Amino acid sequence: MRSKNLVLSSYGTTIFETMSRLAQQHSAINLGQGFPDGNGPPDVVAVASEYLESGSNQYPSMMGLPPLRQAVADINKRFYDLDINWETEVMVASGGTEALASSLFGLIEPDDEVILIEPLYDSYLPIVQRAGGVPKLIRLEPPTWELTETALKNVFCEKTKLILLNSPMNPCSKVFSPKELRLIAGFVEKFDTYAICDEVYEHLLFDGLKHIPLMTIPGMRDRCVRIGSAGKTFSLTGWKVGYVTASQNLLGSIAKAHQFLTFTTPPNLQAAVAYGLSKDNTYFEDLANNLQECRDFLKEGLEKIGFKVLTCEGSYFITADFRPLGFSGNDEEFCRYITTKAKVAAVPVSAFYQGKSAEHFARFCFCKEQTTLQKAIERLKTHFAG
Ligand code: PMP
Ligand code: GLN
Repeated sequence: MRSKNLVLSSYGTTIFETMSRLAQQHSAINLGQGFPDGNGPPDVVAVASEYLESGSNQYPSMMGLPPLRQAVADINKRFYDLDINWETEVMVASGGTEALASSLFGLIEPDDEVILIEPLYDSYLPIVQRAGGVPKLIRLEPPTWELTETALKNVFCEKTKLILLNSPMNPCSKVFSPKELRLIAGFVEKFDTYAICDEVYEHLLFDGLKHIPLMTIPGMRDRCVRIGSAGKTFSLTGWKVGYVTASQNLLGSIAKAHQFLTFTTPPNLQAAVAYGLSKDNTYFEDLANNLQECRDFLKEGLEKIGFKVLTCEGSYFITADFRPLGFSGNDEEFCRYITTKAKVAAVPVSAFYQGKSAEHFARFCFCKEQTTLQKAIERLKTHFAG
């Protein structure tokens, strides 16, 4: 038999799919894969269903429905004071995942170096490699996940094409500080590179922290590709509606990849997301406040059981050190163990690193109803007390 694509076939099934299937098999509460309980804001869902009946269900424009592109430009202005031309600087994609893939395929040339920061989201590395890029990894370590100037100095060079930055960061829930953003911006400018900014968790920051797009740092406006996702902003992860904001020069190349990958995104979902993005600020504040309560509830529950929980500044996830519970295996063994025995699923943090890393952290997802979290905490408590 002829070989298949070596880069892609060398990867297994993603850790999220693996743990979700295991959770299903064992009737475990799934705090592994990041998706909210519930069915999203009813008014947003209603716009999508109405549009199915009354709107056009044929191919929408390749760059996205104009009302959604306008809404994305408006939200850039409202939250970040960015002046964006919706006609030339916004593109809708099928989820943050496609937005990322189109951006990477659109910007990377074979042998370009691409800087990625570990722990990293699962789709980054395979797409960079498939696009012919050479990954250069920076490793952030628990418990502080601090990014230093030395780490950046070690990877930026003349061959660097771009850096991929995820803030708030999955899985470690870090929000990059203004100082770190300025440092990154300095290197991006010095080496005449780009930054792809995965900001899908942009509205999920806690304790009064405000999201700062790298794009707003001086000198970065036309070097950054900013990616958002309706999945996270409207708690509708199955919808897969993403949006890209970038200067016309960058977006033109990204759109070339998009037109051959997915070309368009379901129009009813786009219309609903356009409606959602026009909601007033209280929607966005409530979203973050409710999630913060969920974070606090799960954190307290896990700490009472004995976990050592790390700081969580944003996103859907808490990272917890399970060594105080006396478990002697690694994180993958721990996550499988609690899924099958305590009936609560989590995701091993080492899955977000290449090569050897700390193996005593599990990632728990808290974007759930309190009753779900309560039940999960009780199951873990009963199990580990026994
Ligand atoms: N980036 C990160 C860091 C994520 O956690 C996710 C969530 N799946 C995505 C991108 C993809 O977003 P979407 O579901 O909109 O494709
Ligand atoms: N972003 C989600 C997570 O980190 C998973 C998305 C996926 O399954 N691909 O859990």
